[in-house]
Amino acid sequence: MAELNLVLMGPPGAGKGTQAERLVDDFDLPYYATGDILRQAVKDGSALGREAKQYMDRGDLVPDDLICRVIMERLDSEEAADGFLLDGFPRTVRQAETLDEALEERGRELSAALLIDAPDEEVIRRLSGRRICVKNQHLYHVEFDPPKTEGVCDQDGSGLVQREDDKPETVKKRLDVYHDQTEPLIESYEGKALLRRFDGTRSADEVHAHIRATLATLRLEAEL
Ligand SMILES: [Zn+2]
Repeated sequence: MAELNLVLMGPPGAGKGTQAERLVDDFDLPYYATGDILRQAVKDGSALGREAKQYMDRGDLVPDDLICRVIMERLDSEEAADGFLLDGFPRTVRQAETLDEALEERGRELSAALLIDAPDEEVIRRLSGRRICVKNQHLYHVEFDPPKTEGVCDQDGSGLVQREDDKPETVKKRLDVYHDQTEPLIESYEGKALLRRFDGTRSADEVHAHIRATLATLRLEAEL
């Protein structure tokens, strides 16, 4: 079977996590979130993990080439032999080049970059509407999933608050960083005909059906 080597991209709040879970089920692909992989490597105390920890302890960014080596360790494993779903790396054109080179050395290449897109105002609306209960972290949304009584948790009666990460000013800052880093990357993948765009404002079911159909076609084409 043709490999499905996938990169997942998109702004926060566009539904990447939900779609990733479904794709992992559909196509039986291992899912690698970069942050988790790095933390795991550090926790395991592997050679690369210890190297990464030195940067983290100093509060420095882990260099692209080191992150890439940590990721490649996973992509080289048996479970990723038929493909993978990578989330959170690459974020920049430089990182994408590093990944491309590493894959090329192994005679592999990306199959597609999946972009689940949503306009900024929609992301802000989704994220800034989230509320969380202070006692048990139950989640609500003022618009899509409101509690029966405003500001009060249905399940335990405790107060609902907005997380710092979900405040509109914080979301705007995250989106600015996202756009600065990712737009050149999106253009680069578009130039290589690897980009597949999905409308994250549609329902999760619709987005899922669209991605599934796209990947099924991709796999068929690769096998021809
Ligand atoms: Zn609660």
